[in-house]
Amino acid sequence: MASAKAYKDAALSKRLADRSYRPALDSDPTFVGDVERISGTTAHLCYQCGTCTGSCPSAPRSSYRIRNFMRRTNLGLKEVSLNDPDLWLCTTCYTCSDRCPRDLIPTDVIMAMRNMAAAQGVLPKNMLGTVNFIYQTGHGVPNSDGNRAARVKLGLEPEPETTSKYPEYLPAIRKILEAYGTKQLADKVLAEGQ
Ligand code: SF4
Ligand code: SF4
Repeated sequence: MASAKAYKDAALSKRLADRSYRPALDSDPTFVGDVERISGTTAHLCYQCGTCTGSCPSAPRSSYRIRNFMRRTNLGLKEVSLNDPDLWLCTTCYTCSDRCPRDLIPTDVIMAMRNMAAAQGVLPKNMLGTVNFIYQTGHGVPNSDGNRAARVKLGLEPEPETTSKYPEYLPAIRKILEAYGTKQLADKVLAEGQ
């Protein structure tokens, strides 16, 4: 039997342990519309076939279930969705989107929810560490000496055609991260040690 997940927020943890669904209490009827507007996919057409979860590389390795997030969208379970750590376990491989028989894009549903969560300041610390890497180098995973050596061995230039090779484009990337408040959020949360 799967063990219960621990959430930092005790009230949320208690609430999630209770599997009862109370529409009047839990449901935000604006949620599905907001998700559809941000994601550009008609999430309400999901008929819960499970093809997405069956195709998902994260599912066998974690408690993350994309079908569950699709269902929550249609039930209006906004707070539960945005506060669930599993929201951040999608690799954005788009396999589910390739295979959905309803031609939905579940990946973009997840991306929409991540944007909504980030707007509320709900964001995993490691993601914010990645923001700082992007701010400093233009990459979530910066180039390294080992990677440069491997590229040369393959007959490639040591630096790819990105900010690794053209650091003059870094100020524009920094401007975007600052304009959306992403850099400031990363600095604030990392400084607080959350
Ligand atoms: S594959 Fe598409 S229709 Fe099936 S559960 Fe996933 S999102 Fe819904
Ligand atoms: S895009 Fe995300 S949810 Fe879809 S299959 Fe890949 S990891 Fe799973």
